[in-house]
Amino acid sequence: TTEVYYDDDADEAQLADKTVAVLGYGSQGHAHALNLHDSGVDVVVGLRESSSSRAAAEDEGLTVATPSEAAAQADIVSVLVPDTVQPAVFEEIVDELDEGDTLQFAHGFNIQYNQIQPPEHVDVTMVAPKSPGHLVRRNYEKDQGTPGLIAVYQNVSGDAKDEALAYAKGIGCTRAGVIETTFQEEVETDLFGEQAVLCGGVTSLVKHGYETLVDAGYSPEMAYFECMNELKLIVDLMYEGGLGEMWDSVSDTAEYGGLTKGDDIVDDHAREKMEEALEDVQSGRFAQEWITENQAGRPSYTQLRQAEKNHEIEDVGEKLRDLFAWAEEDSESEDDEQTR
Ligand code: NDP
Ligand code: MG
Ligand code: MG
Repeated sequence: TTEVYYDDDADEAQLADKTVAVLGYGSQGHAHALNLHDSGVDVVVGLRESSSSRAAAEDEGLTVATPSEAAAQADIVSVLVPDTVQPAVFEEIVDELDEGDTLQFAHGFNIQYNQIQPPEHVDVTMVAPKSPGHLVRRNYEKDQGTPGLIAVYQNVSGDAKDEALAYAKGIGCTRAGVIETTFQEEVETDLFGEQAVLCGGVTSLVKHGYETLVDAGYSPEMAYFECMNELKLIVDLMYEGGLGEMWDSVSDTAEYGGLTKGDDIVDDHAREKMEEALEDVQSGRFAQEWITENQAGRPSYTQLRQAEKNHEIEDVGEKLRDLFAWAEEDSESEDDEQTR
């Protein structure tokens, strides 16, 4: 069985005389910087001069420098700017990486697809909370943890894994539990999951369900509630207790209908398409497409984003969310904005 690492398996002494440069102060960056700082670790945040995040970091009492200044001071450089800008930021800091320093990531894309070639004299590790950054911070403040992954790609010092575990402890991940993976496995499962199930699959399912009802003459409001709003309740049950708890909680009619129709709708064709998506991830075809898309100024991405914004379900949903009280969700999204 998979080994899970907790607080007792991690030794914060690994970070005792080290400085961590956190490059970027966005979703993950602010959470790592603040949690490490509160855990007593010496942190410097690396941001470009023009950065809109600079004031937020300084207001929290953190030291802010440029990425290269921060990397020069640091023993561990945690690269938490967006994946698409990491190769450029890496070029700015690569000369500051000394023998035995650590280059660290929260996602393996640029290493796995050779967009960053780390020098041979540094450790290369990953500490990846399995959660958006604002939750990593919020959980830490509530003395709770966020599950996470660690991975070692290059181990020059011999201590790469212990140091990664100490970092995971510093941001609160070992409170909840951490498992070890590889850069390859993290990247391939992450990209597949977000495409096939989490982001791509589920939005497509919601839109097709909504359109089917509206095209058949049902009211957009009913279609919204049925196909989008209730999804949260179903997902919460699966999150808490797996498929079983969800099936136990819905009516027998819902369970029978779901069990008979679900696999008929998301059928073998969908499964074949999932395998194709996975192959594109494994072969690097998807990565190359995304890199090329960025180099071209994101033409298709911009168009797809706009089309998604223009979908009728977004208008209907916005009006309904204003009319009804979703107390918990409202406070969460406010919280989200404040912590960014
Ligand atoms: P964000 O998009 O939130 O990062 C924004 C930060 O990066 C800002 O501080 C921004 O500052 C800075 N930044 C943007 N462009 C540049 C640039 N050209 N030079 C210097 N700084 C720049 O990133 P995420 O936190 O979403 O992602 C960071 C890493 O964490 C990625 O590898 C991602 O895959 C991984 N990850 C993300 C998760 C998430 O929940 N978001 C979950 C797990 C992993 P400025 O004001 O200068 O623009
Ligand atoms: Mg991802
Ligand atoms: Mg129902």
